[in-house]
Amino acid sequence: MENIIDIMHLNKSFGSHEVLRDINFSVKEGEVVCVIGSSGSGKSTLLRCINLLESPTGGKILYKGQDILDQEHNLNTYRTHLGMVFQQFNLFNNCDVLSNCMVGPIKVLKRSKEEAKEVAMKYLKVVGMDRYKNARPHQLSGGQKQRVAIARALSMQPDALLFDEPTSALDPEMVGEVLKVMKELANLGLTMIIVTHEMEFAREVSDRIVFMDQGVIVEDGKPEEVFNQPKNERTRAFLQRA
Ligand code: ADP
Ligand code: MG
Repeated sequence: MENIIDIMHLNKSFGSHEVLRDINFSVKEGEVVCVIGSSGSGKSTLLRCINLLESPTGGKILYKGQDILDQEHNLNTYRTHLGMVFQQFNLFNNCDVLSNCMVGPIKVLKRSKEEAKEVAMKYLKVVGMDRYKNARPHQLSGGQKQRVAIARALSMQPDALLFDEPTSALDPEMVGEVLKVMKELANLGLTMIIVTHEMEFAREVSDRIVFMDQGVIVEDGKPEEVFNQPKNERTRAFLQRA
């Protein structure tokens, strides 16, 4: 399988604070990679560098083999190839569910309304929210909002989806419905990078687990390796606490 993303010697500093140090990893088409680690270890910054919400201080990001930091003119196109799902949903509160999923495809991808609607309905079905197409975000539970946010990201038909703690803001009883949708997406063969504290979920759906500590990737391996036989003492300590 082709590599979708290659991160090479990525560094990120805020002022004198080095938040990411010499990050190297790759994601292949269809792979599900879960990123775990303590709060403050740099997980969100890594995702934000991958989709260029933050500009890296050093290193390379290859998208399908092309250095995206080298070609300024392609940045906007590049961003549309990656979908992002945030902890806080970030839905447009003054639009209904269906419009939330149509705005990006119409405005950014220049799709016709009909086409955008068809694609949006397809993904609202995938996340089980098609019946709520005319609802406003404030009428939905947290779990429902997050499922709509996932459908909205999918409606852009991205090559990969990035999730930053998609269940951390949810009441416990709603975590399951969102994880279930994400499992289904994994089974459909979507490429996903998921920052999560849900260890059981990570073990079950991941092809690979990346453990970060203090801005460094300490361990990167198959879930059974990382969870059952962590090579590093820091990984062991984290897993005991998790
Ligand atoms: P995580 O997602 O693993 O909790 P973050 O990537 O959010 O970690 O943060 C890693 C470190 O970078 C933290 O020390 C945080 O305070 C710092 N940091 C993150 N974003 C910024 C920013 N915009 N400006 C300054 N420091 C930041
Ligand atoms: Mg974070």
